[in-house]
Amino acid sequence: MGTARIDVEALVAGDRRALSRAITLIESRRAEDRTAARALLGELPKRDALRIGLSGTPGVGKSTFIEAFGMMLVEAGHRVAVLAVDPSSARTGGSILGDKTRMERLARARSAYIRPSPSQSALGGVARRTREAMALCEAAGFDIVIVETVGVGQSETMVADLTDLFVLLLAPGGGDELQGVKRGVMERADLILVNKADGEMRAAAAATVSDYAAALHLMRKRPQDPEGWPRAMPVSALAVEGLADVWDALTELAEVRRTAGTFDATRSAQARIWMDREIEDGLRARFEAAPAVRAALPDLGAAVSAGEMTPDEAAERALDLFAKDTGDV
Ligand code: GDP
Repeated sequence: MGTARIDVEALVAGDRRALSRAITLIESRRAEDRTAARALLGELPKRDALRIGLSGTPGVGKSTFIEAFGMMLVEAGHRVAVLAVDPSSARTGGSILGDKTRMERLARARSAYIRPSPSQSALGGVARRTREAMALCEAAGFDIVIVETVGVGQSETMVADLTDLFVLLLAPGGGDELQGVKRGVMERADLILVNKADGEMRAAAAATVSDYAAALHLMRKRPQDPEGWPRAMPVSALAVEGLADVWDALTELAEVRRTAGTFDATRSAQARIWMDREIEDGLRARFEAAPAVRAALPDLGAAVSAGEMTPDEAAERALDLFAKDTGDV
Protein backbone atom coordinates (compact mmCIF):
# COMPACT_ATOMS: atom_id res chain seq x y z
CA MET A 1 0.00 0.00 0.00
CA GLY A 2 2.91 2.25 0.91
CA THR A 3 2.31 5.87 0.13
CA ALA A 4 -1.13 5.39 -1.39
CA ARG A 5 -3.38 8.13 -0.14
CA ILE A 6 -6.83 7.57 1.22
CA ASP A 7 -9.32 10.14 0.05
CA VAL A 8 -11.12 10.75 3.34
CA GLU A 9 -13.60 13.12 1.77
CA ALA A 10 -14.63 10.53 -0.81
CA LEU A 11 -14.79 7.88 1.91
CA VAL A 12 -17.08 9.98 4.08
CA ALA A 13 -19.21 10.72 1.02
CA GLY A 14 -19.75 6.96 0.75
CA ASP A 15 -17.44 6.21 -2.15
CA ARG A 16 -16.92 2.46 -2.14
CA ARG A 17 -13.57 2.56 -3.91
CA ALA A 18 -12.18 4.87 -1.25
CA LEU A 19 -13.65 2.57 1.39
CA SER A 20 -12.03 -0.47 -0.20
CA ARG A 21 -8.66 1.24 -0.28
CA ALA A 22 -9.02 2.28 3.34
CA ILE A 23 -9.83 -1.28 4.40
CA THR A 24 -6.83 -2.56 2.46
CA LEU A 25 -4.71 -0.05 4.38
CA ILE A 26 -5.98 -1.17 7.80
CA GLU A 27 -5.45 -4.81 6.80
CA SER A 28 -1.79 -4.19 6.02
CA ARG A 29 0.75 -5.28 8.59
CA ARG A 30 3.55 -3.00 7.42
CA ALA A 31 4.63 -0.64 10.17
CA GLU A 32 4.23 2.49 8.04
CA ASP A 33 0.76 1.39 6.96
CA ARG A 34 -0.21 0.85 10.60
CA THR A 35 0.85 4.40 11.35
CA ALA A 36 -1.17 5.69 8.41
CA ALA A 37 -4.13 3.52 9.42
CA ARG A 38 -4.13 4.90 12.96
CA ALA A 39 -3.99 8.43 11.62
CA LEU A 40 -6.86 7.71 9.25
CA LEU A 41 -9.01 6.15 11.97
CA GLY A 42 -8.39 9.16 14.16
CA GLU A 43 -9.56 11.46 11.41
CA LEU A 44 -12.91 9.81 10.77
CA PRO A 45 -16.18 11.42 11.75
CA LYS A 46 -18.12 9.50 14.38
CA ARG A 47 -21.08 7.86 12.76
CA ASP A 48 -23.11 4.98 13.93
CA ALA A 49 -24.55 1.82 12.49
CA LEU A 50 -26.57 -1.06 13.82
CA ARG A 51 -24.04 -3.89 14.03
CA ILE A 52 -25.46 -7.32 13.39
CA GLY A 53 -23.42 -10.51 13.80
CA LEU A 54 -24.46 -13.55 11.80
CA SER A 55 -23.08 -17.00 12.32
CA GLY A 56 -23.82 -20.42 10.90
CA THR A 57 -22.09 -23.49 9.59
CA PRO A 58 -21.24 -23.72 5.87
CA GLY A 59 -24.27 -24.60 3.78
CA VAL A 60 -26.85 -23.35 6.26
CA GLY A 61 -27.69 -20.47 3.93
CA LYS A 62 -25.74 -17.46 5.23
CA SER A 63 -25.01 -15.92 1.86
CA THR A 64 -28.52 -16.60 0.57
CA PHE A 65 -29.89 -14.99 3.71
CA ILE A 66 -27.61 -11.96 3.58
CA GLU A 67 -28.40 -11.45 -0.08
CA ALA A 68 -32.18 -11.52 0.51
CA PHE A 69 -32.11 -9.69 3.84
CA GLY A 70 -29.64 -7.12 2.55
CA MET A 71 -31.72 -6.47 -0.58
CA MET A 72 -34.81 -5.98 1.55
CA LEU A 73 -32.97 -3.42 3.68
CA VAL A 74 -31.44 -1.66 0.70
CA GLU A 75 -34.86 -1.41 -0.93
CA ALA A 76 -36.16 0.12 2.28
CA GLY A 77 -33.52 2.85 1.95
CA HIS A 78 -30.77 1.50 4.18
CA ARG A 79 -27.09 1.31 3.34
CA VAL A 80 -25.77 -2.11 4.16
CA ALA A 81 -22.16 -3.22 4.58
CA VAL A 82 -21.22 -6.88 4.89
CA LEU A 83 -17.90 -7.88 6.44
CA ALA A 84 -16.77 -11.47 6.51
CA VAL A 85 -14.77 -12.94 9.36
CA ASP A 86 -13.16 -16.21 8.49
CA PRO A 87 -10.19 -17.04 10.68
CA SER A 88 -9.84 -20.39 8.91
CA SER A 89 -9.31 -18.84 5.48
CA ALA A 90 -5.54 -19.04 5.82
CA ARG A 91 -5.82 -22.76 6.34
CA THR A 92 -8.32 -23.47 3.60
CA GLY A 93 -6.21 -21.50 1.17
CA GLY A 94 -8.40 -18.54 0.45
CA SER A 95 -11.50 -16.82 1.59
CA ILE A 96 -14.83 -18.41 0.96
CA LEU A 97 -16.85 -16.00 3.02
CA GLY A 98 -17.93 -12.76 1.49
CA ASP A 99 -17.07 -13.97 -1.96
CA LYS A 100 -18.98 -11.57 -4.14
CA THR A 101 -20.31 -14.25 -6.41
CA ARG A 102 -22.20 -15.58 -3.41
CA MET A 103 -24.27 -12.41 -3.18
CA GLU A 104 -24.49 -11.18 -6.70
CA ARG A 105 -27.46 -8.88 -6.48
CA LEU A 106 -26.38 -7.30 -3.22
CA ALA A 107 -22.84 -6.83 -4.54
CA ARG A 108 -24.27 -4.84 -7.45
CA ALA A 109 -26.62 -2.76 -5.31
CA ARG A 110 -25.38 0.80 -5.01
CA SER A 111 -26.26 1.06 -1.34
CA ALA A 112 -24.45 -2.11 -0.39
CA TYR A 113 -20.82 -2.96 0.21
CA ILE A 114 -19.40 -6.47 0.60
CA ARG A 115 -15.91 -7.14 1.84
CA PRO A 116 -14.49 -10.66 1.91
CA SER A 117 -12.36 -11.94 4.72
CA PRO A 118 -8.63 -11.35 4.34
CA SER A 119 -6.41 -14.38 4.62
CA GLN A 120 -5.15 -13.84 8.11
CA SER A 121 -4.88 -16.60 10.61
CA ALA A 122 -4.52 -14.98 14.01
CA LEU A 123 -7.85 -14.28 15.64
CA GLY A 124 -6.50 -11.13 17.26
CA GLY A 125 -5.57 -9.72 13.86
CA VAL A 126 -8.95 -10.60 12.42
CA ALA A 127 -10.74 -8.95 15.33
CA ARG A 128 -8.83 -5.72 15.00
CA ARG A 129 -9.28 -5.66 11.25
CA THR A 130 -13.01 -6.20 11.64
CA ARG A 131 -13.33 -3.50 14.28
CA GLU A 132 -11.48 -1.02 12.14
CA ALA A 133 -13.29 -2.00 8.94
CA MET A 134 -16.55 -1.54 10.81
CA ALA A 135 -15.52 1.97 11.84
CA LEU A 136 -14.64 2.74 8.22
CA CYS A 137 -17.99 1.45 6.95
CA GLU A 138 -19.78 3.56 9.55
CA ALA A 139 -17.79 6.63 8.58
CA ALA A 140 -18.75 5.93 4.97
CA GLY A 141 -22.40 6.22 5.97
CA PHE A 142 -23.47 2.59 6.08
CA ASP A 143 -26.18 2.42 8.73
CA ILE A 144 -26.28 -1.37 8.97
CA VAL A 145 -23.15 -3.48 9.21
CA ILE A 146 -23.50 -7.25 9.04
CA VAL A 147 -20.52 -9.24 10.27
CA GLU A 148 -20.69 -12.77 8.95
CA THR A 149 -18.76 -15.74 10.27
CA VAL A 150 -18.65 -19.50 9.92
CA GLY A 151 -19.49 -21.45 13.02
CA VAL A 152 -15.99 -22.59 13.82
CA GLY A 153 -13.61 -22.07 16.68
CA GLN A 154 -13.78 -18.87 18.62
CA SER A 155 -14.90 -16.69 15.75
CA GLU A 156 -18.49 -16.67 16.98
CA THR A 157 -17.59 -15.32 20.40
CA MET A 158 -15.46 -12.73 18.72
CA VAL A 159 -18.27 -11.62 16.42
CA ALA A 160 -20.70 -11.53 19.35
CA ASP A 161 -18.22 -9.25 21.15
CA LEU A 162 -18.05 -6.96 18.12
CA THR A 163 -21.73 -6.51 17.37
CA ASP A 164 -24.94 -5.19 18.93
CA LEU A 165 -27.13 -8.11 17.94
CA PHE A 166 -25.98 -11.66 17.36
CA VAL A 167 -27.97 -13.93 15.06
CA LEU A 168 -27.46 -17.65 14.75
CA LEU A 169 -28.59 -19.29 11.53
CA LEU A 170 -29.48 -22.98 11.70
CA ALA A 171 -30.91 -25.60 9.40
CA PRO A 172 -33.96 -27.71 10.19
CA GLY A 173 -33.00 -30.86 12.03
CA GLY A 174 -33.85 -33.24 14.81
CA GLY A 175 -32.80 -33.34 18.43
CA ASP A 176 -29.23 -34.21 17.55
CA GLU A 177 -28.91 -30.91 15.79
CA LEU A 178 -29.63 -29.15 19.05
CA GLN A 179 -26.64 -30.77 20.66
CA GLY A 180 -24.44 -29.82 17.75
CA VAL A 181 -24.72 -26.18 18.69
CA LYS A 182 -22.31 -25.29 21.42
CA ARG A 183 -24.04 -24.06 24.51
CA GLY A 184 -21.76 -21.05 24.74
CA VAL A 185 -22.74 -19.97 21.25
CA MET A 186 -26.43 -20.41 21.96
CA GLU A 187 -26.07 -18.32 25.07
CA ARG A 188 -24.72 -15.49 22.98
CA ALA A 189 -27.49 -15.57 20.38
CA ASP A 190 -30.14 -12.85 20.48
CA LEU A 191 -32.06 -14.47 17.68
CA ILE A 192 -31.99 -18.03 16.39
CA LEU A 193 -33.21 -18.39 12.83
CA VAL A 194 -34.10 -21.78 11.44
CA ASN A 195 -33.54 -21.34 7.73
CA LYS A 196 -34.91 -23.39 4.82
CA ALA A 197 -38.41 -23.32 6.29
CA ASP A 198 -39.92 -23.99 2.90
CA GLY A 199 -41.25 -26.87 0.79
CA GLU A 200 -40.75 -30.24 2.34
CA MET A 201 -38.66 -28.83 5.16
CA ARG A 202 -41.31 -26.47 6.45
CA ALA A 203 -42.66 -28.84 9.12
CA ALA A 204 -39.18 -29.91 10.23
CA ALA A 205 -38.21 -26.27 10.52
CA ALA A 206 -41.23 -25.52 12.71
CA ALA A 207 -40.30 -28.44 14.97
CA THR A 208 -36.70 -27.20 15.19
CA VAL A 209 -37.91 -23.72 16.09
CA SER A 210 -39.97 -25.23 18.93
CA ASP A 211 -36.98 -27.22 20.17
CA TYR A 212 -34.78 -24.16 20.27
CA ALA A 213 -37.46 -21.95 21.73
CA ALA A 214 -37.78 -24.47 24.55
CA ALA A 215 -34.02 -24.65 25.00
CA LEU A 216 -33.73 -20.87 25.07
CA HIS A 217 -36.49 -20.72 27.64
CA LEU A 218 -34.50 -22.97 29.93
CA MET A 219 -31.36 -20.91 29.64
CA ARG A 220 -30.29 -18.34 32.16
CA LYS A 221 -32.24 -15.13 31.62
CA ARG A 222 -30.33 -12.08 30.62
CA PRO A 223 -30.99 -9.36 33.14
CA GLN A 224 -30.85 -6.65 30.47
CA ASP A 225 -33.51 -8.13 28.19
CA PRO A 226 -37.26 -8.33 28.70
CA GLU A 227 -39.31 -11.49 28.81
CA GLY A 228 -39.45 -13.34 25.50
CA TRP A 229 -35.81 -12.84 24.48
CA PRO A 230 -33.82 -14.43 22.96
CA ARG A 231 -36.19 -15.76 20.30
CA ALA A 232 -36.25 -18.51 17.70
CA MET A 233 -37.99 -18.02 14.36
CA PRO A 234 -38.35 -19.84 11.03
CA VAL A 235 -37.18 -18.18 7.80
CA SER A 236 -36.67 -19.05 4.20
CA ALA A 237 -33.83 -17.10 2.66
CA LEU A 238 -34.50 -18.77 -0.69
CA ALA A 239 -38.27 -18.15 -0.78
CA VAL A 240 -37.71 -14.77 0.90
CA GLU A 241 -40.12 -15.52 3.72
CA GLY A 242 -40.00 -14.24 7.27
CA LEU A 243 -37.29 -11.66 6.59
CA ALA A 244 -39.43 -8.68 7.50
CA ASP A 245 -40.20 -10.43 10.80
CA VAL A 246 -36.47 -10.81 11.39
CA TRP A 247 -35.92 -7.11 10.86
CA ASP A 248 -38.87 -6.25 13.11
CA ALA A 249 -37.49 -8.49 15.84
CA LEU A 250 -33.99 -7.03 15.59
CA THR A 251 -35.14 -3.42 15.61
CA GLU A 252 -37.49 -4.18 18.51
CA LEU A 253 -34.68 -5.63 20.60
CA ALA A 254 -32.33 -2.78 19.71
CA GLU A 255 -34.98 -0.28 20.72
CA VAL A 256 -35.72 -2.03 24.00
CA ARG A 257 -32.03 -1.97 24.84
CA ARG A 258 -31.60 1.64 23.80
CA THR A 259 -34.46 2.67 26.03
CA ALA A 260 -33.05 0.67 28.91
CA GLY A 261 -29.56 2.07 28.35
CA THR A 262 -28.08 -1.38 27.90
CA PHE A 263 -27.34 -0.86 24.20
CA ASP A 264 -24.65 1.73 24.88
CA ALA A 265 -23.52 -0.01 28.05
CA THR A 266 -22.81 -3.15 26.02
CA ARG A 267 -20.78 -1.16 23.51
CA SER A 268 -18.76 0.44 26.28
CA ALA A 269 -18.10 -2.97 27.80
CA GLN A 270 -17.06 -4.27 24.38
CA ALA A 271 -14.61 -1.41 23.95
CA ARG A 272 -13.02 -2.36 27.27
CA ILE A 273 -12.85 -6.01 26.23
CA TRP A 274 -10.99 -5.05 23.06
CA MET A 275 -8.61 -2.75 24.87
CA ASP A 276 -7.74 -5.58 27.26
CA ARG A 277 -7.25 -8.02 24.40
CA GLU A 278 -5.05 -5.58 22.51
CA ILE A 279 -2.94 -5.20 25.64
CA GLU A 280 -2.69 -8.97 26.00
CA ASP A 281 -1.71 -9.41 22.36
CA GLY A 282 0.75 -6.53 22.51
CA LEU A 283 2.35 -7.78 25.71
CA ARG A 284 2.80 -11.26 24.33
CA ALA A 285 4.30 -9.96 21.10
CA ARG A 286 6.75 -7.75 23.01
CA PHE A 287 7.52 -10.53 25.45
CA GLU A 288 8.38 -12.93 22.66
CA ALA A 289 10.46 -10.32 20.87
CA ALA A 290 12.54 -9.36 23.91
CA PRO A 291 16.13 -10.58 23.31
CA ALA A 292 16.69 -11.89 26.86
CA VAL A 293 13.43 -13.81 26.74
CA ARG A 294 14.15 -15.22 23.30
CA ALA A 295 17.55 -16.39 24.45
CA ALA A 296 16.27 -18.06 27.62
CA LEU A 297 12.90 -19.46 26.61
CA PRO A 298 14.05 -22.65 24.84
CA ASP A 299 16.13 -23.69 27.89
CA LEU A 300 13.36 -22.83 30.31
CA GLY A 301 10.91 -24.85 28.21
CA ALA A 302 13.29 -27.81 28.15
CA ALA A 303 13.82 -27.59 31.91
CA VAL A 304 10.08 -27.63 32.49
CA SER A 305 9.60 -30.57 30.12
CA ALA A 306 12.33 -32.50 31.91
CA GLY A 307 10.75 -31.82 35.28
CA GLU A 308 13.77 -29.86 36.47
CA MET A 309 11.79 -26.71 37.00
CA THR A 310 8.14 -26.10 37.80
CA PRO A 311 6.09 -24.26 35.16
CA ASP A 312 5.54 -21.53 37.71
CA GLU A 313 9.27 -21.03 38.38
CA ALA A 314 10.10 -20.96 34.70
CA ALA A 315 7.35 -18.49 33.90
CA GLU A 316 8.51 -16.26 36.74
CA ARG A 317 12.08 -16.37 35.40
CA ALA A 318 10.94 -15.50 31.90
CA LEU A 319 8.81 -12.63 33.17
CA ASP A 320 11.71 -11.30 35.27
CA LEU A 321 13.94 -11.37 32.21
CA PHE A 322 11.28 -9.50 30.26
CA ALA A 323 10.88 -6.88 32.98
CA LYS A 324 14.66 -6.33 33.13
CA ASP A 325 14.76 -6.14 29.37
CA THR A 326 12.17 -3.40 29.29
CA GLY A 327 14.00 -1.54 32.02
CA ASP A 328 11.17 -1.67 34.51
CA VAL A 329 13.11 -3.49 37.21
P1 GDP B 1 -23.65 -20.64 3.33
O1 GDP B 1 -22.53 -21.59 3.09
O2 GDP B 1 -24.09 -20.66 4.76
O3 GDP B 1 -23.37 -19.26 2.85
O4 GDP B 1 -24.91 -21.21 2.50
P2 GDP B 1 -25.48 -20.77 1.07
O5 GDP B 1 -26.21 -19.48 1.18
O6 GDP B 1 -24.38 -20.84 0.06
O7 GDP B 1 -26.56 -21.91 0.82
C1 GDP B 1 -26.22 -23.27 0.76
C2 GDP B 1 -27.30 -24.01 -0.01
O8 GDP B 1 -28.54 -23.94 0.66
C3 GDP B 1 -27.55 -23.42 -1.40
O9 GDP B 1 -27.77 -24.46 -2.31
C4 GDP B 1 -28.79 -22.59 -1.20
O10 GDP B 1 -29.56 -22.46 -2.38
C5 GDP B 1 -29.54 -23.39 -0.16
N1 GDP B 1 -30.44 -22.54 0.63
C6 GDP B 1 -30.12 -21.39 1.26
N2 GDP B 1 -31.19 -20.87 1.86
C7 GDP B 1 -32.22 -21.71 1.61
C8 GDP B 1 -33.60 -21.71 1.97
O11 GDP B 1 -34.13 -20.82 2.64
N3 GDP B 1 -34.35 -22.78 1.54
C9 GDP B 1 -33.81 -23.78 0.80
N4 GDP B 1 -34.63 -24.75 0.42
N5 GDP B 1 -32.54 -23.80 0.44
C10 GDP B 1 -31.73 -22.78 0.84
